[in-house]
Amino acid sequence: MNISANDPAKKTWVSVPENSDFPIQNIPFGVYRDNQIAHRACTRIGDQVIDLCELFKAGYLEGLGFEQSDFTGASLNTLMKHGKKGMRNLRNALSELFEESNPELRDNEPHRKAAVKPAEKTEMLLPVEVGDYTDFYSSIEHATNVGTMFRDPDNALLPNWRHLPVAYHGRSSSIFVSGVPVRRPCGQTRPDDSAPPVFGPTRLLDFELEAAFVTFDGKPAGEAISTEEADEYIFGMLLFNDWSARDIQKWEYVPLGPFLAKNFASTVSPWIVTLDALEPFRAEGPEQEPEVLPYLRYSGNKNIDIDLEVAIAPENGAETTVCRSNYKYMYWNMNQQLAHHTVNGCNVRCGDMMASGTISGKTPDSYGSMLEITWRGSKPVTLSDGTERKFINDGDEVIMRGNCKKDGVRIGFGEVRAKVLPALLN
Ligand code: MN
Repeated sequence: MNISANDPAKKTWVSVPENSDFPIQNIPFGVYRDNQIAHRACTRIGDQVIDLCELFKAGYLEGLGFEQSDFTGASLNTLMKHGKKGMRNLRNALSELFEESNPELRDNEPHRKAAVKPAEKTEMLLPVEVGDYTDFYSSIEHATNVGTMFRDPDNALLPNWRHLPVAYHGRSSSIFVSGVPVRRPCGQTRPDDSAPPVFGPTRLLDFELEAAFVTFDGKPAGEAISTEEADEYIFGMLLFNDWSARDIQKWEYVPLGPFLAKNFASTVSPWIVTLDALEPFRAEGPEQEPEVLPYLRYSGNKNIDIDLEVAIAPENGAETTVCRSNYKYMYWNMNQQLAHHTVNGCNVRCGDMMASGTISGKTPDSYGSMLEITWRGSKPVTLSDGTERKFINDGDEVIMRGNCKKDGVRIGFGEVRAKVLPALLN
């Protein structure tokens, strides 16, 4: 595998602040707009957003099989049609173009001014048009915590959990990019088990700290993708907040799983960090016991060491970090998730999004939802302004961040943040 863009020694002529999520070893992909451009594919180095269409027009991306229209879509889907090899070649070419000693663009001021723009003068859009969205439930700590709270501490995991990566089909229409506010949903709940259900705004609005992967076109319907093949079908990852209304969820979820408690909003970070860029940060996964069926077996390190954190910022207030977790804790890895998803012949398509499920660690400070952090509200969290939270209040902004570090290189995902607006009452 030749991923020259990952060379930890590589430097760029673009200024990169210390602890930036976007050194030259990242080269993520996104879609931006500004006061002149409606939507275009871009990458980012340091605090600069780089317009890929301008680079193409100026001839810097020739010979890679792309057309100008690949870079002008409202999403990355047209670009992603070029598959793993096409995106790898594009990322390697960008890495070379911005390498410190390469004068081609560095010394061409008109081209540079057209393509390289300060991030603060751009706005990031939803990077992919999501056809289908699936949410897994792959953290054993999260599943154990939820099972303990809602069912039985002695049988917290249901009998299937260690044999297959449990998931449900979610809704793609309400996946929003970071920065879009989220309206507190109304719905049906049953706060008193001895009384009929009631209707109103959720009182238990929660976040779920997740990471999602985005796929290229998969195989035709009827054919499965193996754990061995899965990497070739995964473009990259982003951070994912699976907003959840716990009181609505509790009342509605039996027997078919989450519905209105989850489908009102999910918020994603704007940059797709490629699986190629994440390769140096591969980590061993937890031991799986009992041994899984042959189609779920895998070889090599398929987990990824991504430090994750969640903060809450009250309206006009400072942030308080409420969770620090890591993606490497996941019991089921992406290769197993994709293999399981397709083992029945289900076809995945370019732009499908598959979220991990809440990523909790072993200790309470690493739990990935307020449900777990406050143990159903029994242990409220105190924010830096002195106020307490059991769940998320109107006006609160929830912020998630993630990054990987190794060999002096740090690559990150940028932020996913969204503010909660009060419910609309009819
Ligand atoms: Mn979830």
